[in-house]
Amino acid sequence: MTADAYLVIRCEATDDTGNGVDGDCVAEASWPIRFEPHNHTELRRLIKEQRGWDRQRRDGRLVDLCPEHAAVPAP
Ligand SMILES: [Zn+2]
Repeated sequence: MTADAYLVIRCEATDDTGNGVDGDCVAEASWPIRFEPHNHTELRRLIKEQRGWDRQRRDGRLVDLCPEHAAVPAP
């Protein structure tokens, strides 16, 4: 038996609400790699459709955002 491996996508927003750690949001979406989808691209699509995550351009780069931060316009 081996432990499950997980795909993990973390919210990359900075969090100034005081809920995060060191000013960063700590939300993350994880998925056991033995179930489909098996890659980050597919997982991003799944959590966008089912959990409200999004991938947006902030400061000139694409970042993953949890549902809470996806709803907030870029500063
Ligand atoms: Zn977040």
